[in-house]
Amino acid sequence: STPVAVACGIQHAARLGVVIKGGSYLEILAKIKCLAMDKTGTLTEGHFRVSEVVAVGETEDLQQILYWLASVESRSSHPMAAALVTYASLQDVVPSKSVTDFQIIEGEGVSAVVDGHLIEIGNARLASRLGWSNTGSIGSSFPTQTATIGWVGKDHQLLAVFSLEDHVREEAAEAVRSLKRLNVQIHMLTGDNNETAQDVQSKLGGVTVHAGLLPQDKVRIIQELKENAGVTGMIGDGINDAPALAAADVGFAMGLAGSAVAMETSDVFLMTDDLRKLGLVVSLGRRVRTKVI
Ligand code: ADP
Ligand code: MG
Repeated sequence: STPVAVACGIQHAARLGVVIKGGSYLEILAKIKCLAMDKTGTLTEGHFRVSEVVAVGETEDLQQILYWLASVESRSSHPMAAALVTYASLQDVVPSKSVTDFQIIEGEGVSAVVDGHLIEIGNARLASRLGWSNTGSIGSSFPTQTATIGWVGKDHQLLAVFSLEDHVREEAAEAVRSLKRLNVQIHMLTGDNNETAQDVQSKLGGVTVHAGLLPQDKVRIIQELKENAGVTGMIGDGINDAPALAAADVGFAMGLAGSAVAMETSDVFLMTDDLRKLGLVVSLGRRVRTKVI
C-alpha cells in the first residue's frame, strides 16, 4: 500500500474508535487468517453476579463461609472477586482485617491466610488438585446466562461451591459472524472450564473452543495457530493475557476497563467495548492494501 493509503487507513480507524499503532499492523490486519479471543471480559461482559453459594457437608454456616470468601477476594482484582465481595457485603458480611500471604494461583484461583487459616478459592483445576469434588447440585438456571463454578476451602478442607453468572456480549455473535464472512477463523481461549466455554460457544456458533488453559497454554496455542492457519491475531484483557497478546502477529485490547495495561500491551486498541469493530478494521486493512480507500 502507498503511505498515503496507510495514513488514510489509520485515520479512518481512529474515526471508528480504533487506535492502530503503526502502518505495519494495517497490513497484518489485511492478511489475518485467524483470531484468538479470550472469553472472560472479551466475549463476555466480565461483570459477574453471584447466583448461589452452597455449603458442602456440615462445615460452617453461609455467613462464615462468605466471610472467608470476601476476606480473600477483597485483595483480588479478578472480575469474579468484585462480585463475591459485593454479594457478601449485601449479606452484611465484613471482611477480615487480618489477611496475609495473598497469592494468585496461576490458572486456578487465589489463596490467602485469613485470621490464621489458609483459604483457597478457585476453579475445577484447583478443586481436582486439592481433591475436592463438586456436589453436582449447582449450575446455570437461566438459558441466557453462563455459569462459572468456583470452590472455596479452609485449611485444605472444602467448605462450599458457588456459581457466578456472566453474560455473553450483546454484539458478540454478530461480530463473530462478520469475521467469519471475512474468512477469519475464530478460536476462544479461556482458563475457565470446558462446560462454561461450550455454553458461550453455543451462543456464538462456529467458534473453536480451547478451555482450562494456563497463560503459557494460551501462548502455545497462538504459536500453533500461526504455524497452521497463518497470520493470527489475539484479543484479550491485556492483564493475564499479555504473553499471548505478545505472541500473536497482532494483539488487540479493548475498552476503558482494561485501561492503561490494555492500551500498552496491544497493537490495536478498541476504545469502546464493541467487538464489531474487529471486522470493520479487518476489512479496512484489506481496502487499504488494494488501495480502495
Ligand atoms: P480467565 O481468563 O479465565 O479469567 P485466569 O488465568 O485469570 O483466566 O484465571 C483462571 C481461572 O482461575 C478463572 O477462570 C477462575 O475460575 C479462577 N480464578 C482466578 N482468579 C480468581 C478469584 N479471584 N476468585 C475465584 N476464582 C478465580
Ligand atoms: Mg482473564
